[in-house]
Amino acid sequence: MAETKQLKLSFCGGTGGVTGANFLLEDPTVPNGFKALVDCGMFQGTRIEEKLNWEKFPYDPKEIKAVFITHAHIDHIGRLPLLLKAGFNGTIYSTPPTKEIAEIALLDAIGVMEKENKHRAKEKKANPEDLESLYDTEDVSRALRQWKTVGYHEPIMIGDFTVVLRDSGHILGSAMVEFTYGSKKILFTGDLGNSPTPLLKDTEKVTDADYLIMESVYGDRNHEDRQERRNRLEDAIEETIRKDGVVIIPAFSIERTQELLFDIENMMENSRIPLVPVFLDSPMASKVTAVYKKHSDYLNHETNAIIRGGDGIFKFPQFHETLSTEESKAIDLSNPKKIIIAGSGMSNGGRIIHHELKYLPDPNSTVLLAGYQAVGSMGRLIQDGAKYVKILGEEVPVRARVLSVSGYSAHKDSDALFEFVRETADSLKKVFVVMGEPKSSLFLVQRLRDYLGLDAEAPELNQSVEIEL
Ligand SMILES: [Zn+2]
Repeated sequence: MAETKQLKLSFCGGTGGVTGANFLLEDPTVPNGFKALVDCGMFQGTRIEEKLNWEKFPYDPKEIKAVFITHAHIDHIGRLPLLLKAGFNGTIYSTPPTKEIAEIALLDAIGVMEKENKHRAKEKKANPEDLESLYDTEDVSRALRQWKTVGYHEPIMIGDFTVVLRDSGHILGSAMVEFTYGSKKILFTGDLGNSPTPLLKDTEKVTDADYLIMESVYGDRNHEDRQERRNRLEDAIEETIRKDGVVIIPAFSIERTQELLFDIENMMENSRIPLVPVFLDSPMASKVTAVYKKHSDYLNHETNAIIRGGDGIFKFPQFHETLSTEESKAIDLSNPKKIIIAGSGMSNGGRIIHHELKYLPDPNSTVLLAGYQAVGSMGRLIQDGAKYVKILGEEVPVRARVLSVSGYSAHKDSDALFEFVRETADSLKKVFVVMGEPKSSLFLVQRLRDYLGLDAEAPELNQSVEIEL
């Protein structure tokens, strides 16, 4: 049996909030013991949170041997190019779809930063240092060159540890990262999927973890059930179209968009909603959809059966992808009855705001919020019932119907998170609850303590703990 080991675990991001995931695991027990990161995400949300992206990493990136990436959402990968700029020379590991989607997402992030900088420069309020982008395309290329792909369950050796990626069912290629030493296991959950989902395989069950570092985005809330979400989507589309309105869906480019398209396609094929044009007005979402088609082996068996049956997915006569700006602008001139899916998911920018500018004042139209809306985002203001919002400097009245369909979340809800932990409660020494707003994390901590008798805590930013294996 392996001797016991004392490791050091530091929470360098992804605590006290959902975004900025960045965890450091060190083995100080052997000379030159490894230092590895799990995720290196961007802080998103308010300006104060975004400022954290500019802070120095609280460790020396030159000493890091490996970064294991759970999945390609920007709050898990967005600071990787900065890590390289700061001297990281090790290897980045993820599944193949994660690497491909990460490339799309990182390049898109650069575009978003450049646009914001232009906007701020116009306002003339910003300090010059606020007008720099965090990194450029060359930094992203360097990250990709140091990036190796591995399939689920393919072992990677690091120090005295074996690391494997296990399917977390959150987005295509998403993984939990499991470090094993002897028979002891530390599991970083990354984000946990809302299984069962229309496209992905279910989150793998875990029954033998000693330590969990787990997400808690929905630690204090439950989703409506899936049938309910489909019915609400169906009703909203039907009613809106009947009134000659437009259904606009601010969607996240990764997973949510593909799930929505898949559901809408099914509803149309089964004549449950009128056959109106469906516009995917997001070049990024179109690119990601192509990765989903390419890596269909990462999708669930039912979806694969549809693909093998020759029916294809994301392919139906009403479906239009508008890649150029001209095509995007032409959407507004087309048939009044339509469905528009556009990014960004929290209406913080992207093409959706142009559609919101036009359709938020229209009482016959519907804004369908199909995902988490962070505090401080425009989506959150709309969700919380703001009568007016400011878009591109204009005060826009919100008269459209606003509907939140929480079942489309890509995250497990409170009950499912609890159930995930319960499966491995017998082997657990401690649970670190991270990646949630404080009230979500603390609610889950209390639930795990009260109902499973577990040692659980929500660590603070830059806190370090010793863990014994
Ligand atoms: Zn995620």
